Amino acid sequence: MSRRIEINRDLHIGDKSFNIIAGPCAVENYKQMDEIGEFLQKMGVKILRGGAFKPRTNPNSFQGLGLEGLEILYDIKQKYGFSIISEIMDPRDIDSSHDYIDIIQIGSRNMQNFSLLKEIGKTNKPVMLKRGMSATIKEWIMAAEYIRAEGNEKIILCERGIRTFEDYTRNTLDLMSVPILKEISDYPIFVDPSHGTGRKELVLPASKAAKALDADGIIVEIHPEPEKALSDGMQSLNFKEFEDLYKELI
Ligand code: PEP
Ligand code: MN
Repeated sequence: MSRRIEINRDLHIGDKSFNIIAGPCAVENYKQMDEIGEFLQKMGVKILRGGAFKPRTNPNSFQGLGLEGLEILYDIKQKYGFSIISEIMDPRDIDSSHDYIDIIQIGSRNMQNFSLLKEIGKTNKPVMLKRGMSATIKEWIMAAEYIRAEGNEKIILCERGIRTFEDYTRNTLDLMSVPILKEISDYPIFVDPSHGTGRKELVLPASKAAKALDADGIIVEIHPEPEKALSDGMQSLNFKEFEDLYKELI
């Protein structure tokens, strides 16, 4: 059984719970987040995702709204009562994001950014450590150890797919990491079916598989109009698609 990680007084991750985290790839503007917030609150989702600092492959792609994005997330949190998960890429942003973020996300590209891991290890915030796209399970556990060694034990792992020769999907979702990590550690383990597949039509089967394997939850990208999303539209579900997924899993 996974350890229990308290997010707030009424919400925890791990310890036999199954949590569905949802939200857009990136915070784009207030209206987008307000629509998503209203919808997810109605659905009963408790944790909202949304990137303010975006690690983009191309430096000319939308990089996220930065602090302004965190402020929008904070307004939506106040209005609808979510806990917020968002990525931090730079140790210099840890202090300024402290009051805005409830769970710090460490992205795939930063799984072995040891300075970042150490600094986040010094905070007492829950942290979701995504698997590096070329990382073995052992390397991933060692990365978690960097955080734990600094005193922060509130670590959640997230399988988000690895790079293989297969290019039909964006990544190859290595779902066997779920039972393997259950065997060798007690960290809660989430699955990201959105980045793990890169294709919206595969998000439901990947999510069902994650639940069948006793994952502690999933983190899913949604958007009111995926075809207009500034990032990751191909893998984002619209509201109807998310509702169908949610009903099937809960
Ligand atoms: C994300 O969750 O938006 C993201 C960038 O994921 P990853 O770090 O897994 O690519
Ligand atoms: Mn994304």
